[in-house]
Amino acid sequence: MTTSYTDLQHLFEQRKKNPLFNTSYPLSPDDWAKYSTPGTLPFDSSGPIAFYIHIPFCSQICSFCEYTKMRVPSRDLQINYLNALGNQIERFIEQHPEMKIYGFDIGGGTPTSLDLFPGFMMWIREFLESQTFTFNFEPSIEGSFDTLVDDYLGQHKSFYIAKAGFKRLSLGVQSTSNTVLTPLHRNNISAAKMGKAIDEWHRLGISKINLDLMYGLPGQTLENIKKDIDIIRELNPEQVTVYEFRTNQLKTKYKPDSDICFNQYCELFDGLSRLGYFGEFGRNTFSRDRYDLGLSSYLRHRMFDGWQYKGFGISAQSMSPFGVSYNIGKNEAIEKLIDQNWLIKNGSTYEASTYYQLPRHEILNKFIAISGYSGGFSLAAAKNIFGNEFDTRYSTVIRFLRNENLATIKGDRLQLTETGFRHYGTALSLFY
Ligand code: SF4
Repeated sequence: MTTSYTDLQHLFEQRKKNPLFNTSYPLSPDDWAKYSTPGTLPFDSSGPIAFYIHIPFCSQICSFCEYTKMRVPSRDLQINYLNALGNQIERFIEQHPEMKIYGFDIGGGTPTSLDLFPGFMMWIREFLESQTFTFNFEPSIEGSFDTLVDDYLGQHKSFYIAKAGFKRLSLGVQSTSNTVLTPLHRNNISAAKMGKAIDEWHRLGISKINLDLMYGLPGQTLENIKKDIDIIRELNPEQVTVYEFRTNQLKTKYKPDSDICFNQYCELFDGLSRLGYFGEFGRNTFSRDRYDLGLSSYLRHRMFDGWQYKGFGISAQSMSPFGVSYNIGKNEAIEKLIDQNWLIKNGSTYEASTYYQLPRHEILNKFIAISGYSGGFSLAAAKNIFGNEFDTRYSTVIRFLRNENLATIKGDRLQLTETGFRHYGTALSLFY
């Protein structure tokens, strides 16, 4: 059923101030309960696939973080976890021997917080050497400065990252201000230390360093953001990703103000543009290379083309043309994970026994929410998911967004304008 133009006007005004509408979808986990189906998510074996591996361990727990994470457990529990991951990946490959891999990201948590990191990287290297990839395959790994800056004194973790074939390393900085980070229980690393580490990674052949910055954090101001930009100038990473603080999964009363978030994003966008980074307004990724979208191949195809992906490890998400699944741990109380190491002790696999078999409009909504990070979405990919009826079904929404100067059509993309980006979650939610 199509919504009328007047209904869209009301809906837009109603949702505008509701921070629930962002890049999270579904808006509440219960929204998909009716689609729950026994079994594991099927994949389209004629298409390529990406792997995402979740390492939920961190040496510090930051209070703004929405991800499933826990303090680094004992070596025995780390071994259990990595063994379970390895078994699950090998089993998946046995079941889908024909699939080419288009992306391979390891994230978390903080993968580099593993005590067993060198051994893990050696296993990854062997695994990758035995696989077939699409031509633009670009694996990526997340790390943190506090687990890597003094690396040359210890395990040489960076050396193993390079050896395993990763050319892209992504690290969270979030903010460079102590007044912002300290109340959020996060260490600040000096620019000198970060710069020295980046030089070392480049020397090892890790040629794309991505730094994450956040905006909308409690206590953050435009002045803080200007200082963040000064540090980016000093460090000169190849890529910068900016994230809005989201609170959907957090038990906090603090709600980021949409006007403050918009102004802080504009400050970041202007600052990064002045430094020579390329990135369309509304996108969250910026790159020194104008032809590089600032993403790993997993994120690039997931966000821009809606390609399928398989997640391994606690709480990891998978998506295919048939639906979405979340591994065990997604909706578990984090206290349970932290205090009891419950999942790591008991789980030999983290796959849930059910998945969400979704109708095409829900798969489309999920794709649009994921694409929200790029400030719009590909109409061709949307039609591929929804079918040719997409034009008829959503013509009023597109007309509304264009008439109200909230979005434009650029090539095959629907891209939010500056006005649209001010309320990006609400604008894109009109498709839901
Ligand atoms: S922000 Fe990074 S280091 Fe902090 S808790 Fe989350 S995953 Fe761990």
